[in-house]
Amino acid sequence: MENCIFCKIIKQQIPAKVVYEDENMLCFKDINPAAPVHLLLIPKVHFDSLAHAQPEHETLLGKMMLKVPQIAADAGLGNGFKTQINTGKGGGQEVFHLHIHIMGKTV
Ligand code: ADP
Repeated sequence: MENCIFCKIIKQQIPAKVVYEDENMLCFKDINPAAPVHLLLIPKVHFDSLAHAQPEHETLLGKMMLKVPQIAADAGLGNGFKTQINTGKGGGQEVFHLHIHIMGKTV
């Protein structure tokens, strides 16, 4: 998506502090952290939100969810973490490219 800020991060058109990347997904530090560790995990294919996910995204979403604990542990959150997916304006979503917030503090 041309004007999507997260698509621009995927294409390295704007910088981000990337902590994990594979062929399906990218994880980087939130620019305005709401917790000592605050990461965003996004799919490399663009869809606006969880409400826009299609059956073809089933495997991708599963892969992302299964990757979250590993990314969290690598970030020092092996003791536990919070995940959040804001969906739609009413859900507090501001960037319309699906993303999973991963938040916590290291112990
Ligand atoms: P909210 O701002 O209510 O959490 P979202 O769930 O849409 O809404 O989250 C968007 C997140 O993207 C915010 O936490 C924001 O700080 C983050 N963000 C916006 N622009 C960038 C960027 N260029 N690099 C990293 N994080 C960003």
